[in-house]
Amino acid sequence: MERTDSHTHTFLSRHGRGTVDEVVEAALGQGMTMVALTEHLPLPPEVDDGTFAMEPERMAEYFSALEMARRAHPDIEIITGTEVDWRYGAEDYILGWTQRWPFELLLGSVHMLTDAEGNQWEFDHPGYAEGWNERGEEAVWREYFELWMQALQSKVGFDLMTHPDLPKKLSYKPTFDTREYYTAMAEAAAKAGVMIEVNTSGLHKPVKELYPAPALLKAFCQAGVACTISSDAHAPEHTGRDFDLGYAAMRAAGYTHVTVPTRTGDRRSIPLE
Ligand SMILES: [Zn+2]
Ligand SMILES: [Zn+2]
Repeated sequence: MERTDSHTHTFLSRHGRGTVDEVVEAALGQGMTMVALTEHLPLPPEVDDGTFAMEPERMAEYFSALEMARRAHPDIEIITGTEVDWRYGAEDYILGWTQRWPFELLLGSVHMLTDAEGNQWEFDHPGYAEGWNERGEEAVWREYFELWMQALQSKVGFDLMTHPDLPKKLSYKPTFDTREYYTAMAEAAAKAGVMIEVNTSGLHKPVKELYPAPALLKAFCQAGVACTISSDAHAPEHTGRDFDLGYAAMRAAGYTHVTVPTRTGDRRSIPLE
């Protein structure tokens, strides 16, 4: 079956390894027809601990590395994407980047919540896990779900909403019935016309599961939300990792096709064999 990867990172993230070219070569080595580089959009200095995202002054280098990779490897479609941290009050900051740089794929992610004082907290970061006890698991999950859906209504115009149940990464599972949220998320995603992803990186985190959970993926499928597949690789050799498990999860949820973004902002689909 034709293989593609819609979400990858490089050393430019400051918490990953490998160059743009090495990720592209890893994708080619697996016979892929498309790979999207989706480096973390720079964060304002007061939010970034120095390892979360790309440094602002490296954006031009990122774009030119992608252009060079395209020239060197004409046999694979290489998409210039970015993974955006959706945060309270960040819309204008994000638009400042996305209106200035010609990204071809905008990933919407929620990795951070804000407390009453406006401090950011990265709930999926092992170094800051004490925040779960301070805030309470149910409150964190509810706030996360609300923020994820809020991103869909923003002016940013996300193409793809990533790892929809990311808070489980460190194994803090929802302690309440999430069905209402799952339905609401699926309806909101369908209304916004965004893609979601099966993201295989969760298999290698403490939770050891794909994102999203089977029930949430099924809700997306039933609502008619297009689904792509991603490794969220932070090292070249992780490109395309565990995709057979991802495809199986999509089939089990009722999907018959993998949706694939293109450089022009269109989508195409690959039958799930
Ligand atoms: Zn992410
Ligand atoms: Zn990512």
